[in-house]
Amino acid sequence: MSEQFLNSPIQFLKGVGPSKGTILNKESAIFTYRDLLLYYPFRYVDRSKFSLIKEIYSDNSYMQIKGKITHFESVGSPRKKRLVAQFQDNSGTIELVWFRGARWITSMLKTGEEYVAFGKPNIFNGKISIPHPDLEPVTSTKPNTSIGLQGIYPSSEKLAAKGLNSKGISRLLKELLISAKGHIEEIIPAEIQKKNKLISRDEALLGIHFPNSEEQLKNSIYRLKFEELFFIQIKLLKKLGVRKQKLNGLRFPKLGNYFNDFYSSSLPFSLTNAQKRVVKEIHSDLASGSQMNRLLQGDVGSGKTIVAILSLLITLDNNCQGCIMAPTEILAKQHYISFSELLKKQNINIQIITGSTKSAERKKTLTDLASGKVHIIIGTHSLIEDSVVFNNLGLVVIDEQHKFGVEQRSRLWRKNKTHPPHILVMTATPIPRTLAMTLYGDLDSSTIDELPPGRKDVKTAHRFDSSRLKIFGFIKEQIKIGRQIYIVYPLIQESEKLDYKDLMDGYESIARAFPMPSYQISILHGKMKSEDKDFEMNRFSQGETHIMVATNVIEVGVNIPNATVMIIESAERFGLSQLHQLRGRVGRGAEQSYCILMTSEKLSSDAKIRMGALVRTNDGFEIADVDMKLRGPGDIEGTQQSGLLNLRIADLGTDIVILEIAREEAKKILINDPTLKSITNTVLHIGLEEFIKEKKDWSRIS
Ligand code: ADP
Ligand code: MG
Repeated sequence: MSEQFLNSPIQFLKGVGPSKGTILNKESAIFTYRDLLLYYPFRYVDRSKFSLIKEIYSDNSYMQIKGKITHFESVGSPRKKRLVAQFQDNSGTIELVWFRGARWITSMLKTGEEYVAFGKPNIFNGKISIPHPDLEPVTSTKPNTSIGLQGIYPSSEKLAAKGLNSKGISRLLKELLISAKGHIEEIIPAEIQKKNKLISRDEALLGIHFPNSEEQLKNSIYRLKFEELFFIQIKLLKKLGVRKQKLNGLRFPKLGNYFNDFYSSSLPFSLTNAQKRVVKEIHSDLASGSQMNRLLQGDVGSGKTIVAILSLLITLDNNCQGCIMAPTEILAKQHYISFSELLKKQNINIQIITGSTKSAERKKTLTDLASGKVHIIIGTHSLIEDSVVFNNLGLVVIDEQHKFGVEQRSRLWRKNKTHPPHILVMTATPIPRTLAMTLYGDLDSSTIDELPPGRKDVKTAHRFDSSRLKIFGFIKEQIKIGRQIYIVYPLIQESEKLDYKDLMDGYESIARAFPMPSYQISILHGKMKSEDKDFEMNRFSQGETHIMVATNVIEVGVNIPNATVMIIESAERFGLSQLHQLRGRVGRGAEQSYCILMTSEKLSSDAKIRMGALVRTNDGFEIADVDMKLRGPGDIEGTQQSGLLNLRIADLGTDIVILEIAREEAKKILINDPTLKSITNTVLHIGLEEFIKEKKDWSRIS
């Protein structure tokens, strides 16, 4: 009954209907009543508090001010008109801006009258302003007797255009919560609820959307965080339990010719002590007879690839096949080229499969893989597809993608019918223990904490657009002494079109400043055909072009030691670990390298901290630390995509204690009742199902 109610399609809710319903599906993954109920505010504002205009800064947070509109003005070109109002209080003036609806707004609002304006200050055209504020006449805002806490919901332009801004979503939730009375069942066993002083689920869902006290909000948040982490752990531990029963792994005791020949005659450099230690750790795992699940952490440029190669050679020595999976096609190809080069003296069949592999070639490779002819296969995500069948898969290396969740890894395990293959996950983004625990269960970890000798820190500077000419001069000097340059433009999915325009505009202005034939420029972005990408990548890596203009497709892994300058445009739009990864594309050879972070002059305080951290240090672990403090690890690059970590409310950075309690409770339940058959645990089924369903819905849009 209740399940049925919560599963009702969202368009049936009063006030929604088919067209809003579709937008909610598409923009927010809200398909059912349940999805809306679990669409929590990401922030609360105290509507009883007011800021002074002179104190306003752009910090991504909502503010409320009280003042008068002194006058309206329509500005911009006829096609891109906007309405600007000057809004004044005793401390100063700020602009309110509308990009549509000007006529309606001017007819509704009067100059000289006092209003309460509520919105998110923004920097627009170098000036601080509030776009599309909520405005209410002061006379109509009744003195607020309840606390002024109001939930703010994530919205988008498309949602807002249908009236579903934060306020509109809040209205729907009010409607839903009224009709949901009696339909929200408890999903945590009573005993656990009591022991941990958790409020009931219906109370918590009401409290999170419409808190009537700070206390109620706090209890609601705690309860819902607990619930979320608890079900993650139940799901994860249930899986691990299954795995523990067949923990037996392939045993690789032998170091044979593949490994020894390579080590003694083909190794291009001597290993650092850290690399040696890590190879030993991996070898002892591989020889132990249990399945290896190891995380290899090492900063950009610390030399993880060679560790992967050595591990794969041990695998071949023990008559098994290996594979390495990279996050992008570019990186897969680069691995393919360098593996082929390094291993050319040995009789090893290395193949690559990516999205652009021709179907005849793909067919042949797959046949040879299934028959055992191929020793090492390199590829992207597509390697987990069921069509990829191995003869005897022994080791999977996953490079630079901690977005790989339990679910996906378990698909890889099944690619060896007798024993699950060993797994090595390599990452340059340090992962805190709680996160590792959640993502990988009980993954072991190794760390390369030493860079190869002779590395110089990349000199990093933060510059504004006004220094562009000087920077062009510097680029010319570097090219003159034989170096190569990257210039990177952000590509954020939401504003793809604008971003491509930025990239092309940038490319044109660079082409003007660095004219042919003295200068050759490559361009690389995700929308190019795969052959074109290869062609440009090759030209640059052969030194035929001087400058590579690119989007963040070159973010991870790309290794071109002669490139010594990395210029990052609109650096404020990148995350910290992304910036660190990009910077890691230079400083890979013996020459002094440079990274220049270009930003506009107005920066949010977060962006200032990010730029500061990069200028101050080259240490990836320190940077990850700053990142985690700024955003919480749930937001660390890549983890969001893992179905497991689309956390709605819990934050793995700050909720460690709740996580540990929830994990202990989950463990206790599963030890006594591994399949959750007992009657006291039936309430869990609803929760577990809900949790799984929710993740599926989410993956439909992301
Ligand atoms: P990452 O850990 O970022 O994947 P790579 O494996 O790509 O780093 O290595 C970065 C560069 O350092 C490569 O050019 C590689 O050949 C080189 N390198 C790796 N290990 C050593 C070493 N022990 N001594 C010298 N150079 C090394
Ligand atoms: Mg790498």
